[in-house]
Amino acid sequence: MIADRIRQLKNDLPGHVKLVAVSKFKPAADIMEAYAAGQRDFGENYVQEVVSKSAELPADIRWHFIGHLQTNKVKYIAPFVHLVHSVDSLKLLKEINKQAGNYNRVIECLLQVHIAQEETKSGLTEEELLALLEAPVFGEMRHVKVTGVMGMSTLTDDPAVVRAEFRALKNIFEKGQRLLPGMKEISMGMSGDWPVAVEEGSTMVRIGSTIFGTRNQK
Ligand SMILES: *Cc1c(COP(=O)(O)O)cnc(C)c1O
Repeated sequence: MIADRIRQLKNDLPGHVKLVAVSKFKPAADIMEAYAAGQRDFGENYVQEVVSKSAELPADIRWHFIGHLQTNKVKYIAPFVHLVHSVDSLKLLKEINKQAGNYNRVIECLLQVHIAQEETKSGLTEEELLALLEAPVFGEMRHVKVTGVMGMSTLTDDPAVVRAEFRALKNIFEKGQRLLPGMKEISMGMSGDWPVAVEEGSTMVRIGSTIFGTRNQK
């Protein structure tokens, strides 16, 4: 049962690590089962899906946007999104700042870093991340708050590769933190690799299939 798996994970995770339940492609009823077990943080990858779910589900749910975000779609999630994990350009951050301003909000964001070997995964390089934090316009954006980094490891059975990638992300986080001391979150770890991520310093894990079962799509 979903509620049991939520309780088990909360029990297994250290107290300082936040659980984001990734509910993409899963129906509202599944989310409500997790909600009944006390879960309030949910992760979604697609704009249309999170917009419709947020309209029908309880208002105290914190919606985390974890998928690739196109600038022309920011306006749809700006009224309600809690944390955007997947900021991979200054252009996107500027647009989030602009749209958040329209709603008089400050939206928290994580900078996504490319740590995996797969080219298909998006994210900034270390150099790009540091350049973004040092861009003059960065300090002028009043409606976004960058609170950390996010990364996805290579899909592999080799735990040494995964560990090295998470360690690299932690290292980049620490360099970023020197420029922006307010950074505190490292979003890393999914169903297959969260124990390694936690060992390497994760503060936030994004877990889908372990909670909700395998997905039909993707
Ligand atoms: C789908 C997804 C997850 C959850 O993956 P599981 O392996 O099902 O736990 C986590 N993070 C991102 C960015 C995702 O797209």
